[in-house]
Amino acid sequence: MARKTDASGDALVTIPKGEWRRPTRRRVVGIRDKLRSVYGIPIMPPHEQPLDELVLTVLSQSTNDRNRDVAYERLRERFDDWEAVMEAPNAEVEEAIRPGGISKVKSKRIQEILRAIDDSPEGRGLDLSFLREATVPEGQRYLCSLPGVGRKTAACVLLFAYGLRDVPVDTHVSRVGMRLRILRPGAPFEELHDEMLDLSPRGEELELHVNLLRHGRRTCHARRPDCPACVLARVCPSRQL
Ligand code: SF4
Repeated sequence: MARKTDASGDALVTIPKGEWRRPTRRRVVGIRDKLRSVYGIPIMPPHEQPLDELVLTVLSQSTNDRNRDVAYERLRERFDDWEAVMEAPNAEVEEAIRPGGISKVKSKRIQEILRAIDDSPEGRGLDLSFLREATVPEGQRYLCSLPGVGRKTAACVLLFAYGLRDVPVDTHVSRVGMRLRILRPGAPFEELHDEMLDLSPRGEELELHVNLLRHGRRTCHARRPDCPACVLARVCPSRQL
């Protein structure tokens, strides 16, 4: 096991794959139950708007939820539909999403993604509803073939738009999961996504994602985790008490 320290002074632990022992189902269920006792069971029915989810996820990069939402609302108010966003001069899209930060990069990326979807050889246009019937690996492969789209964005679309069995691993989920040792510390994002999927009880993908994320935001902060107040302290090998 190698130890490094990041800029915040938090100990970063890396466990090589050969030394990693995956968590038992009992341990995962115990953690799920403790998180459930604090945060409840999130209710978020699939909204069936995959393009909205895709664009929202691009806008969420490197900013907070509030700025992301302002940028998204401005984009929806400025343009009639996603086709209008795709065909607009880039400067207009960039101006609309400016409150979300790095708007030059994001506006270009959003338009590239929309054009790639529209250019599909099947002639579907800007329609991603085929994902509802596709298998999860097919959906992941298609979404990850779009410009700049990775596993996290693909999982957001599949899970939040259609309730399919995929789990996004963002910075909060990966940090909390690694500290709890249900995810391998130091694992690359591709592996983290595969592991999250494997360890999530079937039908509870959304619950585990949302409650780990909430815990990362409210208690298991990146810099100073509030371990004395943490409901998971007794089962966490990273607790600082
Ligand atoms: S005990 Fe501390 S490090 Fe472990 S999950 Fe709770 S807040 Fe995070």
